[in-house]
Amino acid sequence: MSKCDVCFRNCDIPEGGTGWCHARGNRYGGIVPVNYGIVTGLALDPIEKKPLNRFYPGSKILSVGSFGCNLNCPFCQNYEIARAFSSGEDSEGCKDRGKAAGFKNDPEILYRDDDGLHRLNTRSVSPEELAGMALELKDRGNIGVAYTYNEPLVGYEYLIDCAGLVRKNGMKNVLVSNGCVSRDVAEKVIGAVDAANIDLKCFTEKGYANLLGGDITFTKNFIESAAGRIHLEITTLIVPGLNDSEEEIRREAEWIAGLKGGEGVNVPLHLSRFFPRHKMADAEATDVGMVYRFAEIAREYLKFVYTGNC
Ligand code: SF4
Repeated sequence: MSKCDVCFRNCDIPEGGTGWCHARGNRYGGIVPVNYGIVTGLALDPIEKKPLNRFYPGSKILSVGSFGCNLNCPFCQNYEIARAFSSGEDSEGCKDRGKAAGFKNDPEILYRDDDGLHRLNTRSVSPEELAGMALELKDRGNIGVAYTYNEPLVGYEYLIDCAGLVRKNGMKNVLVSNGCVSRDVAEKVIGAVDAANIDLKCFTEKGYANLLGGDITFTKNFIESAAGRIHLEITTLIVPGLNDSEEEIRREAEWIAGLKGGEGVNVPLHLSRFFPRHKMADAEATDVGMVYRFAEIAREYLKFVYTGNC
């Protein structure tokens, strides 16, 4: 048995097994990212789609995702990749990151829904290949690589390896994450990226623990560490029954404003409208008027508040 210390779950993983996120496993005498370089999504996206509204606006960014996540949000918008798992084989890249250039195996990555098991379309992409693709796309407005779609930090080693090569090419690295990881992982990743959008899913300990299976302290620690060191933006999805309280959004905005002795007023906040999905497929979409009202409250504390999906 080995313990994974990447996030609040601290999974005890038996030899040959994987942790709760399905992205990390006990292999070769330690914990390794079994999703290393297994890509489930790759697209040249507008930077505003991350969303980042105040980091190279109008540019594009090569966006890459794998599978696995450490939270259990009932409203997950990317359920298929978040809860996907390997049917047996690992990425060859997880054996020997750094020397894994050129690995090309094609493990079977599955997800389960009410209709049964489904296979995801995947491809193996080494850090060298990804950095090369980013460079080739420069003349189409690409500024670098965004690590996104699933939770990138459960396989943070791939991010670190890619980010170093992307940076050497004079390009940018962007993280899109729930930030719910240990201080040690947070420090490594913040040092490797230029910008981040962190999902602050609600602003109560109870909401994180009961509904998401998470720990808000870890996400708040990540945000506090990143503020003032990299370009930071924050997203909160307004979900009926989770965080649809004026008082909660007021406390969140006030806390963000107070980051770094008050410099947090310049941190952009994105308030997005929820649409029914996953375990909340039968719920109502968030009332548009509520999102606008919450944005007005947040603007009492913050300079840049944006609404999304409205
Ligand atoms: S990163 Fe994954 S394996 Fe590690 S503690 Fe978190 S859920 Fe468990």
